[in-house]
Amino acid sequence: MSAADSLEKIRQRIDAAAQRSGRRGEDIRLIAVSKHQPLSAIEKLAARGQQDFGENQVQEAIDKIAQLRDRSLEWHFIGHLQSNKTRYTGSHFSWIHTLDSLRLARRIATSAEDAGRTIRLLLQVNVSADPAKHGIAPDELFPLVDELLEADLKGIRLCGLMTIGRRGAGESESRDTFSALRSLLEQCRQRFGSSFSELSMGMSNDYEWAVEEGATMLRIGKALFGER
Ligand SMILES: *Cc1c(COP(=O)(O)O)cnc(C)c1O
Repeated sequence: MSAADSLEKIRQRIDAAAQRSGRRGEDIRLIAVSKHQPLSAIEKLAARGQQDFGENQVQEAIDKIAQLRDRSLEWHFIGHLQSNKTRYTGSHFSWIHTLDSLRLARRIATSAEDAGRTIRLLLQVNVSADPAKHGIAPDELFPLVDELLEADLKGIRLCGLMTIGRRGAGESESRDTFSALRSLLEQCRQRFGSSFSELSMGMSNDYEWAVEEGATMLRIGKALFGER
């Protein structure tokens, strides 16, 4: 199946899952994870109206973004971000999904200010306490948000939370992970305000469950583009 056909099919599934949970498909942002994909694959989806693309390596992303500048696409950084790689984030990304420290936030904010832009940030939470994953532990979340708000950084806006489900997890484990993240978001909203509104969760193997558990952003690679 071509990526364009897969896009159609996935959008239908998102709509159906959204309806099952009393929501609207158009309120859920599908991010096409285009890491390791050639420009031509991105262009084909863009021609079908796909707006949001996700990359996990800074250099690869910057090269692609530069070449697709005329398209006015929206770029999401979804990989682990080392603080020495933050310099060009401000001029290239609209969203970064993997914030996990004040130090990183300061560097992103500087880059965004230099570029005269505001970057929207999600805090990555390692809900399943998987030692192989980045992200903060759930009990580190409120203290970190306190620190971030106190630092009052310009050029960034905290918008919500992100998590990665365990690869190979079944339905009940996946749902538990997603509903735990949703509950953390609701607590953030109560403590820190309504700007906490985004839940980035759900990938090729678990996105329908993620939608039913409240995802507002899905990060989908191989179900769109095929195996890499
Ligand atoms: C690669 C990647 C995805 C997409 O995964 P698929 O299984 O290909 O859909 C989503 N999120 C992150 C953080 C990734 O690195």
